Amino acid sequence: MRMLVTGGAGFIGSHLCERLVDEGHDVICLDNFFTGNKRNIAHLLDKHNFELIRHDVTEPILLEVDRIYNLACPASPIHYQYNPVKTTKTSVMGAINMLGMAKRVRARILQASTSEVYGDPQVHPQPESYLGNVNTLGPRSCYDEGKRVAETLMMDYHRQNNVDIRIIRIFNTYGPKMAENDGRVVSNFILQALKGEDITVYGEGEQTRSFCFVSDLVEGMVRMMECPGFIGPVNLGNPCETTILEFARKIIALTGSKSSIVYRPLPADDPKQRQPDISLAKEMLGWEPKVSVDEGLKLAIDYFRSIVT
Ligand code: NAD
Ligand code: UDP
Repeated sequence: MRMLVTGGAGFIGSHLCERLVDEGHDVICLDNFFTGNKRNIAHLLDKHNFELIRHDVTEPILLEVDRIYNLACPASPIHYQYNPVKTTKTSVMGAINMLGMAKRVRARILQASTSEVYGDPQVHPQPESYLGNVNTLGPRSCYDEGKRVAETLMMDYHRQNNVDIRIIRIFNTYGPKMAENDGRVVSNFILQALKGEDITVYGEGEQTRSFCFVSDLVEGMVRMMECPGFIGPVNLGNPCETTILEFARKIIALTGSKSSIVYRPLPADDPKQRQPDISLAKEMLGWEPKVSVDEGLKLAIDYFRSIVT
């Protein structure tokens, strides 16, 4: 099949492109390289079934494809807060342009939504039926609300124009090819530990997250795209929950680092807890994560070690 991956040069997108190319599909990677990098897909450039297009999803584009994976959007807080107006535009205009394409060529489209649609959740763990607790006014709103509108657009194109849609809500995902400067907790802690620098825990480190290895996520994405008759939304993530302080200690132990933990102010609207309820993914997709956090972190540490030294 002809597959379009927007945001294909980013962290998750590049793993997805690799998987789809290996499966023999014709893959078009579309990216404006805001947070993505050609290095992530350099090994695919000479494959006969891979094409790269530099393009911004906020602008229309005409392509003929069977599947659209819409991932284009900066994902780390420092990147999406760098130009918040552009972040909202990317989610909203990007969804409109890609849904327009899906409608025109009758392609199936999958939207990479996020656990951030639950905001600072008051229901724990979060099932898909939870409607969320999102601040419309804060520094994270450009991302959260942009992604919420993208979900709305998906549903409205589906109801109004019969577009074949899939919505996944991705929870914190990590692995090789995460950008080293993206400020997310996994890359920050591993790099700090490898360089012997202080590990910066925000707040008291009591907030929780649940970390999913990228190969597990990609498997879930592909299953969801090809699942007949189920549009979602579906949570994809690893339910293995940890406090950020425990996570810092784990990284220190796994890297054998001599780094110390230091405490820094908690950013505004930082969600206090996050853990996916993945019952629906298990039931509908037969999917659950296979890579343990220790196993996945070792692979991520090996990757960062290879780029640091
Ligand atoms: P990333 O920043 O590595 O990848 C995003 C990609 O989109 C980059 O290659 C970037 O250059 C590209 N991009 C950004 N704006 C664009 C635009 N206007 N036009 C074209 N390309 C554009 O982030 P990621 O972690 O790979 O995230 C991929 C997707 O998954 C995002 O939509 C993100 O919201 C979603 N997601 C990720 C996580 C996670 O933990 N990694 C969690 C929830 C949701
Ligand atoms: N965090 C931290 N130190 C860092 C980077 C992040 O303590 O150097 C915390 C952050 O406050 C949040 C959690 O780790 O509570 C996850 O942050 P990340 O930016 O990775 O993702 P998100 O907040 O979007 O889940």
